[in-house]
Amino acid sequence: MIMKPCTNHPPEEFLLDYATGSLPDAFALILATHACMCPACHQNIRALETLGGFLSMQASGEKTNALPTPAPSLPDTSCIPLPPITGWMGLRTLPSCLAHCMEDVPPPSAWPEILPGIRAFPLPSVDAKLHLLSFAKGVQAPNHCHDGLEMTLVLDGELQDGKTLFSIGDVATCDTGDCHAPKAGSRRNCLCLWATENDLVFL
Ligand SMILES: [Zn+2]
Repeated sequence: MIMKPCTNHPPEEFLLDYATGSLPDAFALILATHACMCPACHQNIRALETLGGFLSMQASGEKTNALPTPAPSLPDTSCIPLPPITGWMGLRTLPSCLAHCMEDVPPPSAWPEILPGIRAFPLPSVDAKLHLLSFAKGVQAPNHCHDGLEMTLVLDGELQDGKTLFSIGDVATCDTGDCHAPKAGSRRNCLCLWATENDLVFL
């Protein structure tokens, strides 16, 4: 599949946190997924992981001529194609930990409806909330604000947020004080991977 380059990347300040293993796991999975879809960020993250491993070796006073190994991050973030699954989107390249997890996830029509036209399925996460999110085509989330970090990665379809259109692989990032009402594109349902630190504040 030919995919256009991503236009909305995760903020750079999070890439180093990811590479050194200090980003909460739900956000780290968003970055790993984006990296599987974005060659530029993939290259940056791999370079930073090597640097992170080198710095932690220096900090521990370890002296070796061996090449530094990447800092530990997620279980397995190597990119693999997701095999076609009935009721799911087409082939995507995902971190293997997410691809394996999605094989056991029911189709979006079976997920609990959290808002009219919006369904969510929780995924395991230790230190933030992580969900798969499905917007019916054309559905807009009610206006709400954030108390903490939120990252939304588009896995299928499109999401309009303010003046920005987020396509497959793009990451929309909100932080404390940001308010918005994202809306799914009108042509097809929008499937996202969604990580939040805290509950949303509806206006
Ligand atoms: Zn990127």
